[in-house]
Amino acid sequence: MPVRPKERFLVFGSPRIEEAEIEEVAGSLRSGWLGTGPKVARFEREFAAYTQAEHAAAFNSCTAALHLSLVALRLRPGDEVITTPLTFCATVNAIIHAGAVPVLADVDPVSMNIDPEAVRAKITPRTRAILPVHFAGRPCDMDALLALADEHGLKIVEDCAHAIESTYKGKHCGTFGDFGCFSFYVTKNVVTGEGGMVLAKRKEDLDRIKILGLHGMSADAWKRFGDEGYKHYQVVEAGFKYNMMDIQAAIGIHQLARVDHYYVRRREIWDMYDAAFADLPVTCPAPPEAETLHGLHLYTLLVDEARAGVSRDRFLQRMTAENIGVGVHYLGLPEQPYYQERFGWRPKDTPHGTRIGRQTVSLPLSAKLTDTDVQDVIEAVRIALKH
Ligand SMILES: *Cc1c(COP(=O)(O)O)cnc(C)c1O
Repeated sequence: MPVRPKERFLVFGSPRIEEAEIEEVAGSLRSGWLGTGPKVARFEREFAAYTQAEHAAAFNSCTAALHLSLVALRLRPGDEVITTPLTFCATVNAIIHAGAVPVLADVDPVSMNIDPEAVRAKITPRTRAILPVHFAGRPCDMDALLALADEHGLKIVEDCAHAIESTYKGKHCGTFGDFGCFSFYVTKNVVTGEGGMVLAKRKEDLDRIKILGLHGMSADAWKRFGDEGYKHYQVVEAGFKYNMMDIQAAIGIHQLARVDHYYVRRREIWDMYDAAFADLPVTCPAPPEAETLHGLHLYTLLVDEARAGVSRDRFLQRMTAENIGVGVHYLGLPEQPYYQERFGWRPKDTPHGTRIGRQTVSLPLSAKLTDTDVQDVIEAVRIALKH
């Protein structure tokens, strides 16, 4: 049995970084312009071009992007925003910090995305917005969600943290809603270390978000130290400190240029996993829906103890013992004590999300993986499932 030496622990989600990023960051450092500047502006333009969006604004995380988008909806206390239980806590925390009440609608058991019929059942007179998450990179049923939003006068903010490459009927995820929010955190498909981006349907919304993301100072305040002479700024809102730095954009520019190249590599890894696990007592990701491009961000196995003969948590331990880093995306949010206490959420209220959260395991899928790494992961999965 091949055993990975300890020093070769395969870190889950380790990004692929190349010389161009390293040189560009060094260039920023040498130039002395570290903060928000021309590289951020270029990254915004190139990201908008990539997603065929009209407007994009970069920030220092997707959490910040979500928070700003929700603040821009001008929610009032008691307003409700419907989202999925199968997401990172940042999605729901952003709703809370924007002053609204998060409401969970369960996921579809196969797609693992928010179920539009479950959303419909949760709409009340206080509902203001829907916050779908394109889970693992799989586009949500946007036709159904847009129809619901239209019918009930709701806004849509898309959490595209997993969905940089994803398209639905030929259009990029993040361009359907009023806002689309992306992440460039270290484990995501394009990285800047920490970083995020907002796409907005309307230019005036994006202009306001940019002001809110930089202390509430009037437009282009970052230019105030430039060579055009000192410019006074006006504070027009109580904003936040969410701007992206040029050092971050320096990484993102080169990562974005390689996004399709990395996608092709993840597709190969995905197909190797699908082929290797087809005969094992676990559930692989469902095939993508027609007329969609899956972003291939997370390759998840469902380990059902009754079928696999091993519990999910035991499986996680065995993978780690085999020197393979694994992830859990996600324990259903109603399992978390804060939400239980504050909102009375219970795991049984969103049963599909809860079951998936208790069975799911994410395997390494970085474009950095070699074929040998992939074979090691496959071997480890087989070992971890042996009784
Ligand atoms: C990573 C992630 C976020 C938060 O992104 P950051 O850039 O780390 O703030 C939000 N939602 C989902 C679904 C994520 O996976």
